[in-house]
Amino acid sequence: MKKGFKTVAIVLVIMLFAAIVTACGKDNKVSVGIVLPTKDEPRWVQDEQRFKDALSGSKYTTEILFSQGSSNKEKENVETLINKGIKVLIICPQDGAAAAAAVEDAKKEGITVIAYDRLITNTDAVDYYVTFDSLAVGAAQAQYLVDHAKGSGEPLYLYAGAASDNNAFIFFQGAWNVLQPKIADGTFKVANSSEAIALKDKKELSREELAKIIGQVTTNWDPNEAKNKAQTHLTSAAADMKGDVAILAPNDGTARSIADVFASDSAIKSYVVTGQDAEIASIQYVIDSKQQMTVFKDVRTLVKDAMGLAVDILDGKSPETQGSYNNGKIDVKAKQTTVIPVDKDNVKKELIDSGYYKADQFKGL
Ligand code: BGC
Repeated sequence: MKKGFKTVAIVLVIMLFAAIVTACGKDNKVSVGIVLPTKDEPRWVQDEQRFKDALSGSKYTTEILFSQGSSNKEKENVETLINKGIKVLIICPQDGAAAAAAVEDAKKEGITVIAYDRLITNTDAVDYYVTFDSLAVGAAQAQYLVDHAKGSGEPLYLYAGAASDNNAFIFFQGAWNVLQPKIADGTFKVANSSEAIALKDKKELSREELAKIIGQVTTNWDPNEAKNKAQTHLTSAAADMKGDVAILAPNDGTARSIADVFASDSAIKSYVVTGQDAEIASIQYVIDSKQQMTVFKDVRTLVKDAMGLAVDILDGKSPETQGSYNNGKIDVKAKQTTVIPVDKDNVKKELIDSGYYKADQFKGL
């Protein structure tokens, strides 16, 4: 009798232990994997924080990994997340074409792939794309330069993002749509791209034509590369390419370093430089009149859209989208968010009064 009781007790303990292990195993499983390009740019650290804010209290488990500017690391990250049993992958690719292999691996495991901010190109393994209106970003930057042009024949310095990022093409096309007529009519004269000069009468550029210009003026999204390029351009610029100048800078990190180079050249009388992302450091530059504008992309909305899609998928619902983006192979169903151009006049309203940043993060507001 006693022996029987002991056996039952042991079996019960084993069963309890097994149940605990299974439960823990389930909790350790990740439902949504998130892969971001690099921690070296404030933009993506901000996205990480906004994801964390949005996810607190969610019933789904998530894990965020950074690729640190390496497509190999990105692929490794995706494998790690696949092994953790994710059902949805939200990924902002380091390199839009190279990421195809990683998402194809995920797709083979039945995982739904959401491209985040940057499109993954030339693969059918992308299900959804959440993005800002990147054409409007470039158009807003260019419109600012046009609105602040001084007379005619003003030198225009062009800079672009990384050619490995599909967005760089969209930003540049958006800017070119607005700038091209003003280059053609002599309001601006391009100072640093023979390819742009050769194409000055053409509004709709092909991908190849865009690639030619971007190839000459890319910053690779790297503030240091932007700085070196700007220095080289100013060193070789003739006197008539100095004075009052306009500068198309693709984002805030590159804008600040380009602005610093132009500010330190005594032959530059004034400059107007664009940006994008509303990074804290650039908001301070805008307040200090060192950078004239930025484009505010409310990352909270992008995160909300991405997680909304993910949760719909996990809940077995079919997500709502609007329109699509062609990635070279398929039309990817998309969700797009609008952007807000910001300069000294509306910086307080759009970024402080809206609660995005706090006033005490800035001086001289
Ligand atoms: C993003 C920008 C960012 C840039 C560099 C682009 O794809 O849309 O917000 O500044 O990459 O990381």
